[in-house]
Amino acid sequence: MEHLRIPGPTPCPNEILQAMTKQMINHRGPEFGQIVNGVTARLKQLFQTKNDVFLLTGSGTGGLEAAIVNTLSPGDKALSISIGVFGERFATIAEQFGAEVIPLKFEWGKAADIDSIRRALETEPEIRAVLVTHNETSTGVTNDLARVSATVKEFDKLLLVDAISSLGSINLPVDDWHCDVVVTGSQKGWMVPPGLAMVSVSEAAWQAHAVAKMPRFYWDFTKAKSYLEKGQTPWTPAMSTVFALSASLEIMLEEGLANVIARHAQVAKAARDSVKSLGLPLFADECYASNTVTAIAASNRLDVKKMLKILREEHQIVLGGGQQRLDGKIFRIGHMGWVTEDDIEVVISALKVVLPQAGFRS
Ligand SMILES: *Cc1c(COP(=O)(O)O)cnc(C)c1O
Repeated sequence: MEHLRIPGPTPCPNEILQAMTKQMINHRGPEFGQIVNGVTARLKQLFQTKNDVFLLTGSGTGGLEAAIVNTLSPGDKALSISIGVFGERFATIAEQFGAEVIPLKFEWGKAADIDSIRRALETEPEIRAVLVTHNETSTGVTNDLARVSATVKEFDKLLLVDAISSLGSINLPVDDWHCDVVVTGSQKGWMVPPGLAMVSVSEAAWQAHAVAKMPRFYWDFTKAKSYLEKGQTPWTPAMSTVFALSASLEIMLEEGLANVIARHAQVAKAARDSVKSLGLPLFADECYASNTVTAIAASNRLDVKKMLKILREEHQIVLGGGQQRLDGKIFRIGHMGWVTEDDIEVVISALKVVLPQAGFRS
């Protein structure tokens, strides 16, 4: 079997894959209604929220678009806190739908600086919403969302959070941290194939929604809410992925959210410690290093592309490369969802062999 260690899609336990082989049923019938209601209730536990939670059929990016179009109007000012590729994507979506985006960019590999966020909010009193990535998958950095949120809420702004690669793996108490719309995706820490975005919507987000004028149809939260009251989704959902999610949530709640979070922290620490012991530098500021993906800087003449090719062809290990301007400059080990320290050990053992073959001189 291939060792898929990219930051999504992630490997799925057999029980979850088996759940997907369930025969189709009526997506407007009572059996599917029960499944949708059960999944929604369990998701609320793992989001640590009493807010509404919706299942949207699409990838995580669809969920980000839903967050924007449901809460903003063209011309609204949105502060975009960006620390990498996915922060840029969130901002681009807002811009495409006519928001006036105020960019607040930080060096890739670093977390967002709280004082800079405060200054930006002081400078532009008309900002309506703040966009932030909780865990920046492209750089392996986790923002201090609790502090970001505390600052944003000092100014009483709406907080829209890309938690696609953190929720369900890294602690994110949605209600305690006053996050208004939070987006995640099935193929990341949830151990489920791609197909679903899951989003939570706060009371303040509903108030914004009531006056938001951006064009929307498929992603409309009002439709999602009215159908959920009947145990349904407005449009035919990725039903097999919902079956899989139902199975995965049972597994996750059995392990317990606190244990899931602790396991990710432990696995990530093992990954960072082992990588450093090989003589490779971490790309991310270690104070903010992610517990779901470890980004490693190419150094000492390491040819990243050659290394990834040998790992894939000779060791059946698939790691992530760098995205956009990080292409060839970093590589990434995904460790979210179904992962243990043993899985990291497999990667590290192979790296010991492959690094010198790919030019690395320690
Ligand atoms: C994976 C990811 C996305 C994109 O999700 P898709 O499901 O590929 O659309 C966005 N943001 C972050 C932080 C991600 O990790």
